[in-house]
Amino acid sequence: MYQNLLFDWSGTLVDDLPPTLYATNAVLSDHGVAPMEREEFRARFRLPYPEFYAEVLPGVPVSEVEDTFRSAFRESPQQVTVLPHAREMLEWASEQGIRCFVLSSMDVELFTHQAEAFGLISHFEKIYAGVIDKREKIGGILTDHSLEKNVTAFVGDMVHDIETAHHGGVSSVAVATGYDPVPRLEKAQPTHLCDDLLRFREMLV
Ligand SMILES: [Mg+2]
Repeated sequence: MYQNLLFDWSGTLVDDLPPTLYATNAVLSDHGVAPMEREEFRARFRLPYPEFYAEVLPGVPVSEVEDTFRSAFRESPQQVTVLPHAREMLEWASEQGIRCFVLSSMDVELFTHQAEAFGLISHFEKIYAGVIDKREKIGGILTDHSLEKNVTAFVGDMVHDIETAHHGGVSSVAVATGYDPVPRLEKAQPTHLCDDLLRFREMLV
């Protein structure tokens, strides 16, 4: 049984793929690059996201991309929604006394706006947002909060999340509700691969 859960945000607790795609296409269009369809984006997008931008917009500084991205994200006709079972997962974890954290690459400003609007902030002991490379951060988080590796798991929807868990020496829980397709998640060898957070919670009880 896990006593500590680190959660990714996008694709794990919330569905922000529509506004992310919208904002990415705004950035691409700004630089005269054709927009991507959802599946092309899912196939090509990866974390740390500067690697993705280096591939699709070579030579364009990431700092330049971020401003356009942030404002287009806000203007997107389709907004962010809480994923099914996410709220219940966090409420259940709180009831069980499981310590919860967020470790996300999402821009701090966008993250804070969403987490406050959805009323989810109180579930987290500490939030780490705007982390470009989560692998470089996880060790410090485990140390700072005295989290024992054998009872800690990182829950996420991308290969980078699984690699981050491996890097930190904690268990990894891949959820199939987000950006990376299941075959790609499988290849990264997560400790658990779950359809969604309900399946993960069922596994824990
Ligand atoms: Mg994610």
